[in-house]
Amino acid sequence: MVYSHSSNSRANGAETPVLRAVCRGFVLTSIYLDCCPAFLLSALTFDILRLLSDGAFHSGEALAQRLDLSRASVWQALQGVEQYGVEIHSVRGKGYRLSQPIEWLDAARIAAAAGDAGKRLSLALFDQLESSNSVLLRRAAQCNSGTVLACEWQSAGRGRLGRQWLGNLGGSLLFSLLWRFEQGVAGLSGLSLAVGVALVRALRLAGITDARLKWPNDVFLPQGKLAGILIEVSGDTLGPSQVVIGVGLNLRLGQMQRQIGQPVAALGQPVSRNLLLGLLLQQMLLVLDQFSVHGFAVLREEWQSMHYLHQQPVRLLAPNGTERFGVVQGVAEDGTLLLDEAGVLQRIHAGEISLREC
Ligand code: ATP
Repeated sequence: MVYSHSSNSRANGAETPVLRAVCRGFVLTSIYLDCCPAFLLSALTFDILRLLSDGAFHSGEALAQRLDLSRASVWQALQGVEQYGVEIHSVRGKGYRLSQPIEWLDAARIAAAAGDAGKRLSLALFDQLESSNSVLLRRAAQCNSGTVLACEWQSAGRGRLGRQWLGNLGGSLLFSLLWRFEQGVAGLSGLSLAVGVALVRALRLAGITDARLKWPNDVFLPQGKLAGILIEVSGDTLGPSQVVIGVGLNLRLGQMQRQIGQPVAALGQPVSRNLLLGLLLQQMLLVLDQFSVHGFAVLREEWQSMHYLHQQPVRLLAPNGTERFGVVQGVAEDGTLLLDEAGVLQRIHAGEISLREC
């Protein structure tokens, strides 16, 4: 795996995004954030959070000394971090402590977990991005197929149809993968379902056995939505084509996710973020290889076995508020939903539809 890491320089108080290489013998990917809007968190805040990431108490004085700052600057830099999903305990006489330690993204550990698949990836890690999909889409022309952008925090994470994806600093996986196909856009139907299969396979490898899919491509735990997938496609009808596959997954929930208007879930057990990201990328590559040759058809049975609404009564919700009802019969070889609507089998294209349990 080729990898690089970025941070925001705080030299002279400036917030210039720079790449900070942590590569050990690997070549850097050249992705520069020349096009991002203002970041929401300062580089100093990230520096302090890194010093706190063991979950132990650190006095304001010790933190200030390590960073060559005043204690007031340390205090100031930690103001408001709760809104990003980070909970800090501040105790007089003891200092600051994270309520839960943070396992920061680490390229070497991600590469180790991805195994052989990692050799086909170029990974770039960032403290924060506006949205990994947006940045990768803008930089796609300069990137190889297999480029991955992953970040600790997104200031404007996106879902389908202009919806928001709300991450959690240190408590989410937020990443995008660029992939090129020889086939055209027309040959990519069912791709988002295929990626869902990869996510569930990876979760199972990480010991999460109760993850299921919801058509077209959400990942659910019994408590609610665990992960979302956003696929953005470009290219010719006949080929070649290129996709940016974005994934957001909750390892723990913060203040923001609790305000989402539908049940949400996080992994109920401690799982290494780096291990899980490596496994997700590994399984995504395996599925993309299968998909490139055989299309979604080869994954259809497996997808259906993972669909928690299979043979269940459901409600289809259109953006204009109209609803349809039926019983799920499965999916077709192109990923369209097969719905029994009052005795008539209908094929439903993902388009703008959201599926809900009845
Ligand atoms: P739906 O989830 O309504 O069927 P969708 O599949 O089109 O819609 P996505 O693009 O996957 O939605 O994700 C966006 C939606 O997911 C948001 O509108 C919000 O309801 C929900 N959401 C946003 N952030 C999170 C999160 N961290 N965890 C779970 N759900 C989230």
